[in-house]
Amino acid sequence: MEDRYHPQEVEEKWQRLWEEKQSFRAAEDPARPKYYVLEMFPYPSGRIHMGHVRNYSIGDVVARYKRMRGHNVLHPMGWDAFGLPAENAAIERKIHPEAWTRENILYMKTQLRRMGLSYDWERELATCEPDYYRWNQWIFLKLYERGIAYKKKSSVNWCPSCETVLANEQVIEGACWRCETPVVEKELEQWFFRITAYADELLADLDRLPGWPDKVLAMQRNWIGKSTGAEIEFPLAGGEGALRVFTTRQDTVYGATFVSLAVEHPLALELARGTSQERAVGDFVERIKKAGLARRGEEEGEKEGVFTGSYCVNPFTGEKIPIYLANFVLMEYGTGAVMAVPAHDQRDFEFAKKYGLPIRVVIQPQGAALAPEAMREAYADEGVMADSGPFTGLPSAEGKEKVALHLEEKGWGKKDIRYRLRDWGISRQRYWGTPIPIIYCPKCGVVPVPEKDLPVALPRDVPFTGKGGSPLAESKKFVETKCPRCGGAARRETDTMDTFVDSSWYYFRYTSPKFDAAPFDPDKAGYWMPVDQYIGGVEHAVLHLLYARFFTKALRDLGLAKVGEPFANLLTQGMVSKETYRCEDHGWLFPAELAGSDQAGWRCPHCGKPAVKGRVEKMSKSKKNIVDPEDLIAAYGADTARLFTPPVALYFPASRRHERRRIGDGARRAFAGAQGLAAAHAPDDQKSH
Ligand SMILES: [Zn+2]
Ligand SMILES: [Zn+2]
Ligand SMILES: [Zn+2]
Repeated sequence: MEDRYHPQEVEEKWQRLWEEKQSFRAAEDPARPKYYVLEMFPYPSGRIHMGHVRNYSIGDVVARYKRMRGHNVLHPMGWDAFGLPAENAAIERKIHPEAWTRENILYMKTQLRRMGLSYDWERELATCEPDYYRWNQWIFLKLYERGIAYKKKSSVNWCPSCETVLANEQVIEGACWRCETPVVEKELEQWFFRITAYADELLADLDRLPGWPDKVLAMQRNWIGKSTGAEIEFPLAGGEGALRVFTTRQDTVYGATFVSLAVEHPLALELARGTSQERAVGDFVERIKKAGLARRGEEEGEKEGVFTGSYCVNPFTGEKIPIYLANFVLMEYGTGAVMAVPAHDQRDFEFAKKYGLPIRVVIQPQGAALAPEAMREAYADEGVMADSGPFTGLPSAEGKEKVALHLEEKGWGKKDIRYRLRDWGISRQRYWGTPIPIIYCPKCGVVPVPEKDLPVALPRDVPFTGKGGSPLAESKKFVETKCPRCGGAARRETDTMDTFVDSSWYYFRYTSPKFDAAPFDPDKAGYWMPVDQYIGGVEHAVLHLLYARFFTKALRDLGLAKVGEPFANLLTQGMVSKETYRCEDHGWLFPAELAGSDQAGWRCPHCGKPAVKGRVEKMSKSKKNIVDPEDLIAAYGADTARLFTPPVALYFPASRRHERRRIGDGARRAFAGAQGLAAAHAPDDQKSH
């Protein structure tokens, strides 16, 4: 026997054998326990990186372990193939997005094969294939029939650089998640999915996911943001109508000394008309709208407002109080109108101080007596109601209930539940996505494309200019069509779907990837679903993972899915990080190009100045702290690369090494350790976008 191990020969031999024997083909077998392990599928960007290696190695370890334990394992792989980079490549390099995507898929597939991952490649899918995206369109039509897909005019987040609409989830601290350009607000007709119809169930079912990390559960809970409170009507003084406000603190209603409206409130301009404030209000509305939607909800921002010149009446005190517009009130949340209680809400407090509005204490903390003049900040906790008419002396919790009942008796309002969750806007002014299967007829209006005419295929004759607007609108052949209802001339919808639609149900498709009577075969999905172990990045905690849960419930209600939750267990694998180096003149440097040593210090190869060792950060091309998995595989073999990341310690951290002997206790325990370790690798201040 030779002393030296030659990974290339050994690995190639076994990989060939696995392929010949189709060792990883999966078929339904009711006699054996099934196990469905899935890694979030990649975007075919061109090459696999260390993050992929880590993600897929974890999945592969689980798949092989479960196979050896006698499970019938499904472990598929595919491509999240629609999206912006392909389109940008088309604009920059004049390659068709489809050609660019296919090339990348081919190359990355070769890379994945060389890694020796145990996939059932027979089930491979790519979301840009018409036989995949036709089912996006089919699902859209079913949801449209049920009123879950609908169209409305709305204020949207607009990235001026990508020239497209962004979902709230895609706006990170006021900027585009993809290019970090500050996002602005724009009014557009958009298609939406009514995810809010499932808000209660999406929230309640989080309690049935003990196999998910607490952190992700908490993020989803917070994102859905259920609040229980009351809607109260404040009649306009000296006019018709009323302002409806939503509050979770109706126990503070006696302390409401003004009302604040969002600049988008339908009455915002009308209330000022004919008053001396008309001009100031008009200017304010214009200025705030320009500032963009996303920034405005922020806690720290400067509170600004303007008096509308009009008043309303607090129904509880009978007092006339002024109506302001305020930059921090959003139309999206609640009703776009807020009863302002400066003594007990910090933003209202800052606002009242700035504009000299009265502060009235109506909740006293236990054993203390607040005085408005002495307050340096709002008292937002619960306490005992004070100066509140018949409710004075009641504890907050009891007061909330009594005030709500009183409202309903008097007809001033009602108990109410609100969600922070908004409907999912899916319209994108992009080419490389699924065409929305809708036709506009001058006689018949909005007409869904009949099922038999699916797929609505992406046209090829579209120029890629990057000038913005929907590229599909440039194809006459695509746009001009016949109305399916009256046969007259009509035109097609030219927006495409958010690519998060594609990834919301792909794990169902893997169970029957060639099925052509529906998105998937309900019986096969019935056997394999739910996914037993899902593995991916924590950056998907509220985007992909919430949409996938919503789709599963919607597909269940269409009679297709037999489960209500897609992923029984979730592992967020953390990030692969590495130290960074920088030259003050030449920016980020590749570690490999540095001259010097750890002892003597490192120098910039371009100018010889010291290279400063920076933080350990997520590997990224821009920071040049990347390791190419291909180099690792070429030098040491795929097994070593896989073992190297994630390290063995990920599964068996030092404190739990004894579990190696009790591996039969299940992967769950190892995963608990893995998650702790992954979390330690991924401090919260390191965001991955
Ligand atoms: Zn952008
Ligand atoms: Zn028609
Ligand atoms: Zn330099």
